[in-house]
Amino acid sequence: MIKCPYCREDFNDVKNSRSTYNGSQVWRRRLCRKCGKTFTTYEKVRPDFLFVIKKSGRKERYSRENIYSGIYRAALDWKDKEKIVNKIVDIVESKILDLGEKEVKTSEISDIVLKVLKHSNIKTFVRFLTYNKQPQGEEEFTKLFRKY
Ligand SMILES: [Zn+2]
Repeated sequence: MIKCPYCREDFNDVKNSRSTYNGSQVWRRRLCRKCGKTFTTYEKVRPDFLFVIKKSGRKERYSRENIYSGIYRAALDWKDKEKIVNKIVDIVESKILDLGEKEVKTSEISDIVLKVLKHSNIKTFVRFLTYNKQPQGEEEFTKLFRKY
């Protein structure tokens, strides 16, 4: 329930809405039923409807926590770790939504995570790459490094 920021009333009517950021956010103009003031909300669309296909072929419901903990584990030396990891997961989620699919492979998700990490923290990127892709030797590592 979205409360009016002026009078805390629960009931309001949506006057106008549109998607932003490739559909990962919805902007809504609302009119309070009690005080008649208008206010704007931005609602994040969560990919909760998604299914993730694991390497084994098993299907699982999408879990933000899985992505979060994977990045968290690789982000050893960050300050304000929870906040930054959450922000990165937000970016990853909006990119997953941009795929426009109902099912995504875990490898697709880790590819997205790697692309985002490479642009934000190179050490964390390297650790995440090592955990997830387990490159055998320097050559394979270099190939993977260049891929993202
Ligand atoms: Zn109000």
